[in-house]
Amino acid sequence: METYQIEPVGYVVNDFDDPGHRNKIKESPSTILLYDRFTEGLLNIEACAFLDIVYYLHKSEGGQMSGRTPSGDVRGAFASRSPARPNPIGITTVKLLVHDHNKLLVKGLDAINGSPVIDIKCCDTSLFAAEMDSDPVHNSILKSDPRIEIRNHIAGNRTEILMLKAGQMHGHFCPGLAMGIMAATWAMNELSTDSDGMEDLLSITETNNCFSDGVQFVTGCSFGNNALIFKDTGKTAFTLAKRDGNGIRICSKPGSRKVIQEAFPDYQRLFETVVAEQDHDPALVAEYKKSSLERAFGTLSLPLDKLFRMNRIQVDIPAYAPVHESIVCSVCGESVMDSRIVCQENRPLCADCAKTPYSILTGDGIRILSHT
Ligand SMILES: [Zn+2]
Ligand SMILES: [Zn+2]
Repeated sequence: METYQIEPVGYVVNDFDDPGHRNKIKESPSTILLYDRFTEGLLNIEACAFLDIVYYLHKSEGGQMSGRTPSGDVRGAFASRSPARPNPIGITTVKLLVHDHNKLLVKGLDAINGSPVIDIKCCDTSLFAAEMDSDPVHNSILKSDPRIEIRNHIAGNRTEILMLKAGQMHGHFCPGLAMGIMAATWAMNELSTDSDGMEDLLSITETNNCFSDGVQFVTGCSFGNNALIFKDTGKTAFTLAKRDGNGIRICSKPGSRKVIQEAFPDYQRLFETVVAEQDHDPALVAEYKKSSLERAFGTLSLPLDKLFRMNRIQVDIPAYAPVHESIVCSVCGESVMDSRIVCQENRPLCADCAKTPYSILTGDGIRILSHT
């Protein structure tokens, strides 16, 4: 049988010289120090929230194919994490806390001081995420309370997590989305309320751009559940109101754009080069994308009072959205909400078949469109 030689890339530094305290070791941060010639391998490691650390169990006496676990079960070496195994190699998933040159500060590592580190890999969590999504307990909680996670993140003011989730709907990350998340989180906590998707909480948004997606995601007042009202004034502003008319209006300050520009000067410089002057050098484009992401997420940390003005107001709340009957258009045969039916010669027609004007919401706002 062939054997292989492995050269460590670094070693573990912590306060534990004895392997007897596995849980204590895991709870304390450990440092992984890399030998100089491997430092380049840490480039952009910050992109990995979790890492798999492969290390040598240098104090293991090795060899046993089975043994007792701490709880008394007998298990094979491959069915346990016992250090006594044919190849004394440990693999642990850790959280990356800090990266500084050739040093990584991590949490969750169970290796003792001086353990040789063989390899570090970016942890692939996609399987866990997929399992979590299909976990029956998790799903039954979400079925009875679909906004539980969002609500907890609002109460904890975890705008970065809210933005990550809102990005799944919005499709990209930008300061507009960030401002919507910030304003909506602020308003939700001020009104100490939550949307049940039943119109007891209403949002009135005054712009149909990125900002409003942040507002819809955080407040739960959406186009589809009739709890979102669009007031087409073209302002980066929104009002959150309860059924009793108590509301909060948050409007961006005229200087907010400048505050963001000044906070991220690198982005501004790269924008001029890559977008305005159309320089598509791959290294510059990569730098531009990176700084654009930093600007979007960095906006979340800017002071609220520099970006917004907030007022408590009384709002005239519209009636609950009526439940409409559907009527079938006598020309195209498609069913139409009764309030949109046009009667011509005693026949019900849709606006398309009757060729009557209708309202349309586009990137340009609401307008009346006439058939030509
Ligand atoms: Zn956007
Ligand atoms: Zn029709």
